[in-house]
Amino acid sequence: MQEYTFKKSYEFFEKAKTVVPNGITGPRTPLFHAYGSVPVFLEGGKGAHITDVDGNEYVDYMCAFGAVALGYGHPKVEEAYRKQVEKGNCMPMPSLRWVELAEALVELAPGMSWVIYGKNGSDVTTYATQVARVQTGRKGIVIAEHAYHGLHHWCMENRNGMLEESRAYVYKFNFNDLKDLDRILTEHKGEIAGIMLTPYQHLVMKDQIMPAPGFYEGVRKLCDRDGIVLMMDDIRCGFRINLHGSHLHFGADPDLICFGKALGNGYPISTCLGKPSLKEAASKVYFSATHFYSAGPMAAALAVLKIMKEEGAVERMTDLGTRLGQGLEARAEAIGLKIRYTGFPSMPYMIIEGDTDLSRNRYFCGEMAKRGVFFHPHHNMFVSAALTEKDLQKTLDTAEVCLKLTKQNFS
Ligand code: PMP
Repeated sequence: MQEYTFKKSYEFFEKAKTVVPNGITGPRTPLFHAYGSVPVFLEGGKGAHITDVDGNEYVDYMCAFGAVALGYGHPKVEEAYRKQVEKGNCMPMPSLRWVELAEALVELAPGMSWVIYGKNGSDVTTYATQVARVQTGRKGIVIAEHAYHGLHHWCMENRNGMLEESRAYVYKFNFNDLKDLDRILTEHKGEIAGIMLTPYQHLVMKDQIMPAPGFYEGVRKLCDRDGIVLMMDDIRCGFRINLHGSHLHFGADPDLICFGKALGNGYPISTCLGKPSLKEAASKVYFSATHFYSAGPMAAALAVLKIMKEEGAVERMTDLGTRLGQGLEARAEAIGLKIRYTGFPSMPYMIIEGDTDLSRNRYFCGEMAKRGVFFHPHHNMFVSAALTEKDLQKTLDTAEVCLKLTKQNFS
């Protein structure tokens, strides 16, 4: 097979650098990938496939960093979106989709009775902290060490251009460590408004860590003891682990839930849902931006929820991801390599054992890309519900070749 080349991608990356600081901002830069061996710019996406500007096609395992769970251009989502925007999208008042989607979400997530909308995950995670602060009249927010809850100043780890003061009253504990959490709550007794957690720990460049048995029961007890609001940041995992909220899979009982990414299957929409006890506090938080009210993404989200249920998308992604992991592990073992496939099966992160600087992973992912499979060496990946058996087979066959190459190259 002819290996892919990426001439046009990198020519345009050079051009991009002249007109955009760093060429591409954030984790989508090729510098955070297998630089030189992966595409930089894409032409299109259909189902579980993406096509780059050099005309190469890939089976995609990033799903737009989780935003497109049902596959690119899902016909029913596209139809719902198109029909809505033909009537109206960005208007001075919301459309009826505003109410219909809120009803659908409240119906979906047990115990939740109200909903607000944003565009990105960051909008609603920040909003959740405001609701917690209004509810309790306290300042403190507790998050897990290195957890990503978006790019707002209170939680972003890269502090360039941000005031140190903007993360005052934010305290960090080690995920899964109830003693450490209790230590913070005790040190700041009566000062903590809320605890925000992702359903499990999905940090970049690290094995993914599931909640320990009893962790969420312990967190809930501490919240109840101290009158603290528990916020679930389900932006990344949402609609991939359990259609009704990932917390249900892990036995958590949050007061507020943030969803985003997969909800719009690529159209921008995020939401925060809350228990009835927080509705009054929620009503006191000012929350508005020009595009928060757009009808198209809401119509898309309504279609997404319906399709996910009808097509059993969560179960399908879980099954595909499980078989992907088993297949990768078996192929690695057959050639004397050991891999670690961690995280929920449909959102896996793969590391080759002993690869302390991830150079093997970068090489492996680069060789995969050259052969038409788009993996990521640093960020957890995402399995699309649109992935076919043929795609999975191609992925495993390609992985076999690339694992062998990796072994040879690093022996
Ligand atoms: N929380 C989590 C867990 C995320 O993964 C992300 C995005 N990667 C965010 C919040 C922020 O979402 P957004 O990028 O849509 O603002």
